[in-house]
Amino acid sequence: MPDRAFDIGPIRPPSEANSLLLQVTRGCTWNKCKFCVVYRGQNFRIMQPEDLKRNIDNMVYFRDIILEAEDAQGRLRKDRLYARLQEFSQMELQGFYMVWNWLAHGGRNVFLQDGNSIALKPEKLADVLFYLREKFPSIERITTYGRAETLSRYSVEQLKLLRESGLDRIHVGFESGSDNVLRLINKGLTQEQQIAAGRKVREAGMELSMYFMPGIGGKQYSAESAEQTAYVVNQTNPDFVRLRTFVLKLESEMYGMLRNGEFEECTDIEKLQEIRALVDGIVMPDVNLVSDHIVNLIGSLNGRIGERKTAMLEEIDRILALPKEEQRTYQLARRHGIVDNYEQLLRLPSNRTAHLREMAMTYDEERLWENHLNEILRQYV
Ligand code: SF4
Repeated sequence: MPDRAFDIGPIRPPSEANSLLLQVTRGCTWNKCKFCVVYRGQNFRIMQPEDLKRNIDNMVYFRDIILEAEDAQGRLRKDRLYARLQEFSQMELQGFYMVWNWLAHGGRNVFLQDGNSIALKPEKLADVLFYLREKFPSIERITTYGRAETLSRYSVEQLKLLRESGLDRIHVGFESGSDNVLRLINKGLTQEQQIAAGRKVREAGMELSMYFMPGIGGKQYSAESAEQTAYVVNQTNPDFVRLRTFVLKLESEMYGMLRNGEFEECTDIEKLQEIRALVDGIVMPDVNLVSDHIVNLIGSLNGRIGERKTAMLEEIDRILALPKEEQRTYQLARRHGIVDNYEQLLRLPSNRTAHLREMAMTYDEERLWENHLNEILRQYV
């Protein structure tokens, strides 16, 4: 019996939790960003179109097993399904359950993994995507991660080919628009390349989702990072700006920089001030700000700049203006995933808030308080 197993990569955006995951590349072409440990020690590999088509065929095979297990009324007969599952290895089952989960959520979205799927030349990737859409006509949206440096080297025509083959959105980790910060973190990218990449993606008709990391430039570059990031956003007019507040990983090179005194970390509140400066600097009304990760101190900074900018700034200012005790209580509630914003804190039962306040004020020294918050945050990244 042929082996039906295929690999599934380690990361995908939260918005792709129920997507079909097709691994086009393994690891990252660059793999040298000083804050990133996702693919450390892993060699980069590009899958060839024939391998990808074979994996798609295996997904089709799993889909057909699930459809065949349905009765005449379209209800899934689990007894039939489980009888078939005995045939599969653990690796095959991992792929099977991914396809099953995808179908259970409507079978509409696909995410191409890993860190830089567009390293596969657009002509080859387009061929795979045409095949994928032919095999799964229910697909409505295909998205991927892509490195801005790679994108900046492609022509608009090549990117248009990807668009025609069904690639709808590219998620790109920009981290900061400041060249000083990009050098500091060894991003292997310049602001000029960021702007070129962003404009080409937009011109090709694809959605552009940019990721920024408030705090990644440390205290030294916090203000500059916000200003230059807003500049890049205004120059490229992306569909989405996603916030991923910087959390220092102990296994990363940046932790070594912190210990050597080459990097001074922003406090939790300073990172929020950086977010404020970024939001304030964005003037493109159609940009959607997205705060879809627990690492962001406010989880409800979402919406079109043209509609919600003032409200978002007010929400940030409200936290910044709180007395220390109340501010810390909010930080702790947010960091423990209890609330998304200050309004929700106000609705908590008073005994719960009192307990949080008591815990928050046990840290006399600011340094210990920040360490505590960082320890909580590291659990999420
Ligand atoms: S480009 Fe992305 S995946 Fe690659 S090392 Fe940098 S942050 Fe990590």
